[in-house]
Amino acid sequence: LAVSAVMDKNDAILSDSLNHASIIDGCRLSKAKIIPYGHNDMEDLRQKAKEATESGQYNKVMVITDGVFSMDGDIAKLPEIVEIAEEFDLITYVDDAHGSGVLGKGAGTVKHFGLQDKIDFQMGTLSKAIGVVGGYVAGKQELVDWLKVRSRPFLFSTSLSPADVTAATKAIDLLIESTELYDKMWENGNYLKEGLKGLGFNIGESETPITPCIIGDEKTTQQLSKRLNEEGVYAKAIVFPTVPRGTGRVRNMPTAAHTKEMLDDAIKIYEKVGKEMDVI
Ligand SMILES: *Cc1c(COP(=O)(O)O)cnc(C)c1O
Repeated sequence: LAVSAVMDKNDAILSDSLNHASIIDGCRLSKAKIIPYGHNDMEDLRQKAKEATESGQYNKVMVITDGVFSMDGDIAKLPEIVEIAEEFDLITYVDDAHGSGVLGKGAGTVKHFGLQDKIDFQMGTLSKAIGVVGGYVAGKQELVDWLKVRSRPFLFSTSLSPADVTAATKAIDLLIESTELYDKMWENGNYLKEGLKGLGFNIGESETPITPCIIGDEKTTQQLSKRLNEEGVYAKAIVFPTVPRGTGRVRNMPTAAHTKEMLDDAIKIYEKVGKEMDVI
């Protein structure tokens, strides 16, 4: 929603084709021309940035991307995006809903790449790794000041409750004080990924603890999720239209709260159900 505070119908937004639905809706709300580029395809982004800026049709051009892609767990190529943005004078916007708390020792994808002063907008949610509700936009002071007077949802909706604010602040303090939870989450993520890969599941291109088991067929994916749940593993099926047709997957979200025993049990259940359903 910060997008519509700075972009309007005379502008264009270059948007990764796998961007999350909230990014797409935010862009639509701004009425700017949306120009999708191939997922993490930097050649395509460069080409489209060149066309958009050289056409002279737009006042401003923004590039917008997820920091971590929620369905596959892969990471945006921010260093290349920044390079292209500098070349064509683009505004840069990273939605880090799945990167905050997970990359850059908890600070997110932008910090992970050391690009804090190169990205104009860093937006995140407090509802995922932080475990509360709400969200934030970080950027230069003048940008933040602008949003305070121009972002309609910020102006016209009720603010967070004091309890939510306290819980979110405490969660962030814990992340700053120690990397214990952060390290545990990565350890658990890597352990689960190795286990599932070892069984022969296709876990795609994930570079983060988000662990999809890509099955393909929509019905089989839903059946697998149901059988896993009956055996004690809660992993939701994600199918078309949330992901492209034929790339149905069950998505696992290992956390710092899982124990090694839980993960071993889960891997055993995956083996049992996967063999029973003939998907491994
Ligand atoms: C979940 C998510 C959001 C929305 O966050 P809420 O806190 O549920 O509003 C926005 N962007 C991305 C990329 C997300 O994954």
